[in-house]
Amino acid sequence: MPETVSEIARLWNASLARIEAKLHENHEQRIFDSFFAHSYVETIEGKTLLVVVNSGLAAVVLESTYKELILSSIQEATGTDFQVRFITEDQVSHGAAPKKEEGPTFFADDRLDPKYTFDNFVTGASNREAYQASLMIARNPGKLYNPLFIYSNSGLGKTHLLYAIGNAIKERSPTTKVLYTPAIHFIDEYVKFAQGYNEDLSLLQFFKNEVEVLLIDDIQILAGKKKTMDYFFQVFQTLYTSGKQIVITSDQQPGNLDGFDERLKTRFSQGLPISINPPDLATSEAILRAKIEACGLEDGVFDDDVIQFLASRFSSNIRELEGALNRLIFSTIQAQQSSHITMDATLTALSGMIDAREAKTKLSEERVIAVVADYYSFTPSQLTGKNRTAQVAMARHIAMYLIRTLLDTPYAKIGSALGGRDHATVMTGIKKVESELKTNPSMRKAVDALTAKLK
Ligand code: ADP
Ligand code: MG
Repeated sequence: MPETVSEIARLWNASLARIEAKLHENHEQRIFDSFFAHSYVETIEGKTLLVVVNSGLAAVVLESTYKELILSSIQEATGTDFQVRFITEDQVSHGAAPKKEEGPTFFADDRLDPKYTFDNFVTGASNREAYQASLMIARNPGKLYNPLFIYSNSGLGKTHLLYAIGNAIKERSPTTKVLYTPAIHFIDEYVKFAQGYNEDLSLLQFFKNEVEVLLIDDIQILAGKKKTMDYFFQVFQTLYTSGKQIVITSDQQPGNLDGFDERLKTRFSQGLPISINPPDLATSEAILRAKIEACGLEDGVFDDDVIQFLASRFSSNIRELEGALNRLIFSTIQAQQSSHITMDATLTALSGMIDAREAKTKLSEERVIAVVADYYSFTPSQLTGKNRTAQVAMARHIAMYLIRTLLDTPYAKIGSALGGRDHATVMTGIKKVESELKTNPSMRKAVDALTAKLK
């Protein structure tokens, strides 16, 4: 049953949308505009919605003429057979508590943030599976994979996807009971409960009765907390066996969760574990452009090399990418009223966030690739492309090695700079160069010459 004001509002808005569509179809848009204007649900009593309308006449007309249409629309929008009663503003009993307090509630401060949706989640190879799995879960909670387990480093969209799942479920079915909570709140609630703060209603009972979809964020925080973990195990089992959907995020894959019970790790692995990787350059650029648009700016305001610079420099963490963008917008457009943002302005604005040398040589990975390609008379796109001839492959491995040694770039990011190669390919390439360097003087000469050029 919807409880909070925003849930009730959402339920009514979804119903109104249906009602409007039907009246519009019957050429009765005017009826809708006049009789439903400013209507809202004051409260829900049992299965009856108390709908406040804007006049006594509206209450009478809706009751006598449009009730069936209204009830069927509510049914379609919410999946529930509600009844309705129409009242006017002055019949609302002010001061009466709108809903019954049934003992202490758990997780009172946790709610879905409506800002994060599937619509504003940009996909690319690095996050596509996590996105697709989330989408399927939102369409079919409890039916497909349980639990869905999403893991990645920080700032790559886990929380965003959890909210998106919750928001999508609530949009399709406003009465479904979705709980989003960071695992740290689970610890808090468990501790309060275990200290006898609330004796008559168990936390487990709360999950049984009040949660149909559990979205729990950053589960790694439970590591080593034996009692909380045991309790979470019970919650998990309870939800799982009754077919309730569980979605978990973590900074590690299930098998690598240190300080966790084996039985929990096993449960976590048995559904669908999926990772999100750092975005490749094109995806990180697309995310950046989407964020720029969401700020109400045209992306033409930014020079292309600014976009590329930001996308490549901050691709390992989208939160940092957003931070850099916000700072840049703040110090240029807001503080100086600039209408166009150049690379110079960017370097000045972000000087605290990036090391100056790295900034001057902007797109460092790309620069190494360009210099290595040039040295061997290839084009950079031959190095980043699919060509597997021995010469090109060797040059590519040298580029990997130099990026790693000169810039200390993570393997996955080296792989994406070199056209989307994976972590393992990059490691193997670098190992090859390292072992060649021990035995092959001409390789040593080339690497030294390239290093000198790049420094
Ligand atoms: P995590 O939970 O993995 O640490 P978040 O979900 O909090 O990461 O994401 C950090 C920020 O980056 C959020 O503002 C989020 O909206 C944004 N973000 C991450 N991935 C994407 C994406 N693919 N498309 C759009 N925004 C994204
Ligand atoms: Mg998060």
